[in-house]
Amino acid sequence: MRAVLPAATVTARAAGRLRGGHPWVLREDVVRPPERGDLARVVDGKRELGTALWSPRGRIALRLVAREPLADEDALEALLAQRIGAALARRRALFPSADAYRVVHGEADLLPGLFVDRYGDVAVVQTACAAMDAREPAIARLVGGALGARLVVARDDGGARAHDELPRRKGVLIGEGPPRALFHDAGSAMEIDALADGKTGGFLDQQENHARAAGYAAPGMAALDAFSYHGGFALALARAGAAVTAVDESAPAVQRIGENAARNRVAVEARCLNAFDALREYEAAGGSFDLVVLDPPALAKRSSDLRAAERGYKELNLRGLRLLRAGGLLVTCSCSGKLTAERFGAVVEAAARDVGRPLQVLERRGAGRDHPPLLGVPETDYLKCWFIRVLI
Ligand code: SAH
Repeated sequence: MRAVLPAATVTARAAGRLRGGHPWVLREDVVRPPERGDLARVVDGKRELGTALWSPRGRIALRLVAREPLADEDALEALLAQRIGAALARRRALFPSADAYRVVHGEADLLPGLFVDRYGDVAVVQTACAAMDAREPAIARLVGGALGARLVVARDDGGARAHDELPRRKGVLIGEGPPRALFHDAGSAMEIDALADGKTGGFLDQQENHARAAGYAAPGMAALDAFSYHGGFALALARAGAAVTAVDESAPAVQRIGENAARNRVAVEARCLNAFDALREYEAAGGSFDLVVLDPPALAKRSSDLRAAERGYKELNLRGLRLLRAGGLLVTCSCSGKLTAERFGAVVEAAARDVGRPLQVLERRGAGRDHPPLLGVPETDYLKCWFIRVLI
């Protein structure tokens, strides 16, 4: 007879949340932890609620992976293989000719604590909980096999791992050759170094927004891409004919914008500057643009940062709006999950009131469809990218 997985007993409140579709059980809702291992049947005393990954540390103690009781470790590996394959099939159906997208988006693909990005022939894996972390070699084999990747690397050096007190590390899991990958972002040829660059190398969550912004650009327009990173927005706008200035405070990022611009045979003026200073400088010089993109890093990482972050977002939006000609377009973003869309809207509205210009909200967008939020799990809905027209 096969050994049954150990049980983790949770409160009635946690059971209700799980049944309602939210996959997490917080530590204070664990009545009895599993006796061993990191895979557990979840019970509330009476009923079986499914199977979850157990984290010995961190606020989130259990992450549901299946609504049924799994028999053992092999059953989990089969489930991971099936879920990764299904997630990839969904991406391929959405983006048939793309060579870069998020393959697995954690909870939203029913793979809690697991993130996989594809950049051309390189796959990047990130784990954010202990049980996924422990299975990373097997996950790398599954991902490498499904994608036919030349290289699978781990980027387990992000902040999300701090919650589970996991060590930060990065390196090659499978394959060989340079960690550099060539790929296309919204049609622009780009290159990343999957081990040396930020995050997993790029900001694929903005890819569909890069493409969308390009739809508003035309020859003769002047555009400013503030917080440009490798130039995702800047390149898309320049390829649509706009004269683009890109600003980022990171020297390696600015260098990459130049390389990427050459790769796409477009000109982008890339400046290594603090974007707050650059906006002030343009304003003082009486500069004006037809399109301004504001895509700062998450200004609010914790709830306690929220007020200061709101002041930062307001200043940025205020300055961005002041630089726009009548009829111009503001593409304003926030990737702070702590700042809800409602509060983001209030910040932009406050900036609009201060500049005294009427604005049309053309599009309230979020992350691309390869980074979908899971309904009922607000933690998976973090990116705001709004397209706003300055009327006069
Ligand atoms: N717009 C990019 C992603 C931007 S990520 C895209 O769509 O791909 C945020 C960027 O802001 C990073 O490249 C970081 O180097 C830069 N950054 C952070 N603080 C900054 C500041 N004060 N001024 C200018 N750039 C900054």
